[in-house]
Amino acid sequence: MNEKAPYYEAVHKEVEVFEHAYKNKLPLLLKGPTGTGKSRFVSYMAHRTKTEVITISCHEETSSTDLIGRYIIKGAETVWLDGPLTAAVKRGAIIYLDEIAEARPDVIVAIHSLTDHRRELFVDKLGITVRAHKDFMLVASFNPGYQKGFKELKPSTRQRFVALSFDYPAPDTETAIVSNETGIDKAIAKKLVNIATKIRNLTELGLTETASTRLLVDAATLIKSGLPKRLSVEVAVVEPLSDDPEIVQALTDLCHLMI
Ligand code: ADP
Repeated sequence: MNEKAPYYEAVHKEVEVFEHAYKNKLPLLLKGPTGTGKSRFVSYMAHRTKTEVITISCHEETSSTDLIGRYIIKGAETVWLDGPLTAAVKRGAIIYLDEIAEARPDVIVAIHSLTDHRRELFVDKLGITVRAHKDFMLVASFNPGYQKGFKELKPSTRQRFVALSFDYPAPDTETAIVSNETGIDKAIAKKLVNIATKIRNLTELGLTETASTRLLVDAATLIKSGLPKRLSVEVAVVEPLSDDPEIVQALTDLCHLMI
């Protein structure tokens, strides 16, 4: 495992909540828009609890077979290969199912018995049940989609998790994150945060996702590397947010005024 802890700035009581969920092996759901530090938090907590983390980025083709395992042909033989979930269950790792709602429904079915007192995984292709190692923990993330177009997570599934909400941090915290993460001057980090705050308040633009901390970190990284400030904001913040030329122009004008 990497010696140095990943940089993570605690925003609320999430570190404490994770530690208690980990101690009691309760599954944890991280809710919140993209780029709000969920993945970084999991890496940080894995380091803190000295546990390996296995991350699966779920997408619409992710099936239970991808997670549990499959037979593969090796030479003249067929051999069984554990999937990442089975490996984590056996080894006592943290499995992080990023964007779990994107996965196929059979993934949700497969994790059911791991999310309650049974803490076991049924490997249907082998016809066996694997009991989870004492250090195994299930963590998932989910974008609640306060706007249309996001997949939902069924209430019966949600109720199997302890849930933590992630959102954009308060301006001072976000400024610290952008500056610590990239080494950029605090004054420039603050301007970037001001831009993001402004864009986040422009609900009338109807953006599917708004300016996240990740976008600010990207802009700061480009500025730190020597790209002009305005151009950095344009390519790292404005362009990723919209393809509508009028919105892009409006946001560009706004950013030029602010940096
Ligand atoms: P998510 O998983 O929610 O989509 P990430 O964890 O990938 O978001 O965060 C995106 C980037 O934002 C990180 O790589 C990091 O640079 C930065 N970031 C966001 N929140 C924090 C935080 N609280 N502490 C440190 N870095 C953060």
